[in-house]
Order: sequence, then structure tokens, then C-alpha cells
Amino acid sequence: MIKDSPALVLIGTAFHTPTPAALEVLEDHAFVLDGSGALSRVLPPGHPDRPALVEAARVAGRLKELGTGDYLVPGLVDLHVHAPQWPQLGKALDAPLEVWLQKYTFPLEARYADPDFARAVYDDLVATLLALGTTTVLYFGSVDVEPNLILAEACLRHGQRALIGKVAMDHPETCPDFYRDHSAETALAGTRDFIARLREMAANTKDNPLVLPVVTPRFIPSCTDELLHGLGALAEELDCHVQTHCSESDWEVGHVHERLGASDCEALDRFGLLTDRTVLAHSTFVTDGDLTLMKAKGAAAAHCPMSNAYFANAVFPMRKAMEKGVEVGLGTDISGGFSASLFDAARHALMASRDAYNGTDPALPQEERGTGEKPLSTIETFWLATAGGGKALSLPIGQFAEGYRFDALIVRAGAPGSAFRTWPGSDTPGEIFEKLVLTADRTAIAEVWVDGRRRLAA
Ligand SMILES: [Zn+2]
Repeated sequence: MIKDSPALVLIGTAFHTPTPAALEVLEDHAFVLDGSGALSRVLPPGHPDRPALVEAARVAGRLKELGTGDYLVPGLVDLHVHAPQWPQLGKALDAPLEVWLQKYTFPLEARYADPDFARAVYDDLVATLLALGTTTVLYFGSVDVEPNLILAEACLRHGQRALIGKVAMDHPETCPDFYRDHSAETALAGTRDFIARLREMAANTKDNPLVLPVVTPRFIPSCTDELLHGLGALAEELDCHVQTHCSESDWEVGHVHERLGASDCEALDRFGLLTDRTVLAHSTFVTDGDLTLMKAKGAAAAHCPMSNAYFANAVFPMRKAMEKGVEVGLGTDISGGFSASLFDAARHALMASRDAYNGTDPALPQEERGTGEKPLSTIETFWLATAGGGKALSLPIGQFAEGYRFDALIVRAGAPGSAFRTWPGSDTPGEIFEKLVLTADRTAIAEVWVDGRRRLAA
């Protein structure tokens, strides 16, 4: 190979949203990948360096040209998935949260102590999410250490970028005896053990790990103060991401106020758990002060609109969070939400924002009906699902910029059985993008790429 010969060159039209304010249409661009899976150049037509690079790739058999009707978009980033809840997706959502947790969720999560069960479920989960276009997932695992390592193996085998947390929960009053850490000490030891073993996994290369560990207190009510304090110290000592649930419901907000005299954000900050690599699931009931604190610390919110419609009974104040500059992205919250598709989560976020803006009671006059907070646009919604998620995780993903990892989907207009279709002479590139965001489904996803490698093809 000649010097600087690319590992791969893809030529085609891409859509991406590096900021929530604008769509960039990269028509007939050349995307040059280096050997590590990063984008090294993004070249428009007519760029003087382009002919030589394309020719070198062609000679080396490393040139890929997208077909007509194929569009490149960044891979989707799901900021909130409970991996062990995969078998109960779509089930029992009419039950109140307490029943849903105690009767369904905790007994199911406890079953992962059986490695064969964990292997079968996690293999299926990771393959399915990749096929739906989710190239990065922030996963809650379960309490036991081993099944979380099995989940990491599945991510490495299928090539999905993932951040995984061993769930820590030790509070004897809120967690069942059959499914909890039996003390803060054992929870901390288990977390430490999990982080070390995940980082040592042979397939998880040291300089560019595909799977990262996350310090994961389930939420404040299920953890003792001792455990929360210890996890904050551990996140700092071991230089880890943090995830937990935050201000999800009236009950939960009340519980934390009563026990700690503070909001979730304030309490998490006191425990050292609010960092620039913290992702707070839901955050539905955050106050203006909480948003200011999140912004100051660089902590992000994972908005999960499907789950919120069942368990939060309110809509996350997305516009307010975005205006304050708080990092935000989206989650399916499998299985508090009923769809595994992040495209679905994005569409529900859009609809929830419109319902909040419009209001829902037709008996009220129009001007009194809604919050009046401007709803999400299609472009903002896609930004949340891609670049917003990447920013929330502090990872170079979610857009086609030089130096970013190449995580991408090829979405095909007109695929058999798909409603994502375009018509000659009737759609501008911007309109094709809108159609893609609002109508693309599994059958429209022709290829899934993670870290510069094709992981799935239709
Ligand atoms: Zn959750």
C-alpha cells in the first residue's frame, strides 16, 4: 500500500446533525477511514486530495460506493437500556411501578445468575439492537457480576459499542432479599471486580476499547448512603462513567427529599456521583436549580419518553434543558418502554414535546392548554438520537467529523416492506432526511457499521 493509503473509502450522500440547530447534507462526499476505525477525512466533490485517495482505495479493493436511494447517517445512541429486562419487553406495563418492579422485574433480573440464560438472552438482545440501528448502548446490567461480563462478551462478539454497569443496590428496605447486594461493602467489591475484569477482556483493546465500565447505583432509594458515597469515590478512583435514575417520578422525588432533604441532583452531587461522564436516566422532575447544577458539572439527561408515559406521569422539560445547555440524549428504557428501536424513542420524544406544547384537555381554551414550550423539530430529534447522545457520553461518535469513530447506518429508500420511500422530482434532500427520521424502520436499515467495520448487512 502507498503511504497514507486509506483502510476504506465510502462514497455517497450522508445526513448528519452536528448541532441541534442544523442539518448538514453531505452530497456525494468521500468518507475516508483509517485502520483504527476513525474517520480521517471527509471530502466533498472536487476536493484536490480526493482523486488520489479514491484511486488508491479502488486499486486496493477498499472502495465502497453507495447505491441510488442509499443514505449514510450516524449510528443511533441509546442512553438507557436495562439489558436483563429484554425478555419482558412489552409486558405488564399497565401495572403500577411498584408491582412491575417487585413482581416482574426483580425476579427476572435475579435469573441472570444462571450463565446459560444470560448468554442466550444477551446474544439475542445485542444482535436485535444492532439490527435496529443502535450502534452504542448505555446498559444497566444486573446485580451479579458474571452476567454483566457475559453481556460485554456479546457486545464484543457482535461489535456493538457499549457502556455497561453492574447494578448496585443494597438497601434492605427497598430491595428484596433474593435480589440485592447484601452490604455496601460487597456492592463496592463487586463493582470494583466487574470494572477490572471488563477492562482486562482480551477482545477489548486497551487503546480503543469498544466496551466501557460504568458505576451504576440503581437509584437513590435502592442504595444506602454508605454505598452511594463509596460509588462516588470509586468512579473517581477508577476514572469511570456513572449512570443512575434521577427524579423519575413523584414518589421517587418525595422519597429522596424526605430521606436526604435534597433533590436527586443535589444528593448525587454530595455523593460525588455528578460528573461530566454521568448520565441521569429520565430526570423528568428536575428543577431549574437541578438543570443549572447538571450544566455546571457536565452531567447529561437521558430522556425516555415511552417509559415516562407509563411511570413518570409527566414530560421531561427538554426545551428548558437544551436552552440551559445541559447535555441531553434519548433512551428506549427497555423494558419500561415498549419499543427497542431508538427511532421509535426519537419519534415519541417528538410527539411528547408536541403534546406538552399543545396541552391535552380540549375543554380548555387553546392559550391555556399547553406549556407553550417550543416542541422539538425533526432535526433536533435526530440530533438527540445521535450527536446529542455521543456528547452525553463524552465519546467521539454521532457525527461525520474528522477524528470521530465511524459508527454509521446505510438507510435505503424503497426497500421492500418499508414505508421510507422517495419519489423522483418530489423530494429535496432535506425532505428525504425528514422522511428518513420519521419513517425508517428495520427493513430500511441496509447496513450497520461500528468503529469502521460492517457489523450487519441486510
Ligand atoms: Zn431505567
